[in-house]
Amino acid sequence: MSLIEIKSRIAKAEAAAGREPGAVTLIAVSKVQPDERVAAVLEQGQRCFGENRVQEAASKWPDFMQRFEGVDLHLIGPLQTNKARQAMELCHAIHSIDRPKLAKALARLAQELGHCPDLFIQVNTGEEDQKAGIVPAGADTFIAECRALDLPIKGLMCIPPAGKEASGHFALLAEIAARNGLEGLSMGMSSDFELAIAQGATHVRVGSAIFGQRDY
Ligand SMILES: *Cc1c(COP(=O)(O)O)cnc(C)c1O
Repeated sequence: MSLIEIKSRIAKAEAAAGREPGAVTLIAVSKVQPDERVAAVLEQGQRCFGENRVQEAASKWPDFMQRFEGVDLHLIGPLQTNKARQAMELCHAIHSIDRPKLAKALARLAQELGHCPDLFIQVNTGEEDQKAGIVPAGADTFIAECRALDLPIKGLMCIPPAGKEASGHFALLAEIAARNGLEGLSMGMSSDFELAIAQGATHVRVGSAIFGQRDY
């Protein structure tokens, strides 16, 4: 698959869902991919990228940001409090806000740095033990807590259980967002981004369909 194909599939899915052209932001998930592949996608004009580890992001993106203007970097993986400062300095959005301790740390840092990335709260819609995210029953309270800290919460993010029908998870995320007045929905990956767009995704996180399989 290629970037152009994925973008055209996104455009078709937007149209099919009666969404405005450009309503959906494509986050090209570049984690683990070799630099040549990332550079090739940058050359094709893509500027919004996702990484799931702060350390990896910090080791590859400062160089790319010097070479290519307008990079918009999204952290989509779990964030440890002791990496919060580095994440805030490097990333334009963080999709993995999932606990009060992290929210408080970000609020303190936002004060100190005078800016804050766009934030998404991760919801563990499948209530899986191994997955990060606030459980659905705790989401309303946590959203309110983040707002009380003046954090710029733009929306919600989820990673549905692997190999299961995702649509119930996307619907649940959309429902929690709607009742809390949040517009951003970060959902949908290589295998299901069209479904996610049909269900209201504003940000899709697509890795292997653009770059090829990850070679861990
Ligand atoms: C790796 C990753 C993706 C992209 O997955 P693909 O199946 O390669 O599209 C999306 N979201 C998160 C949180 C990821 O870690």
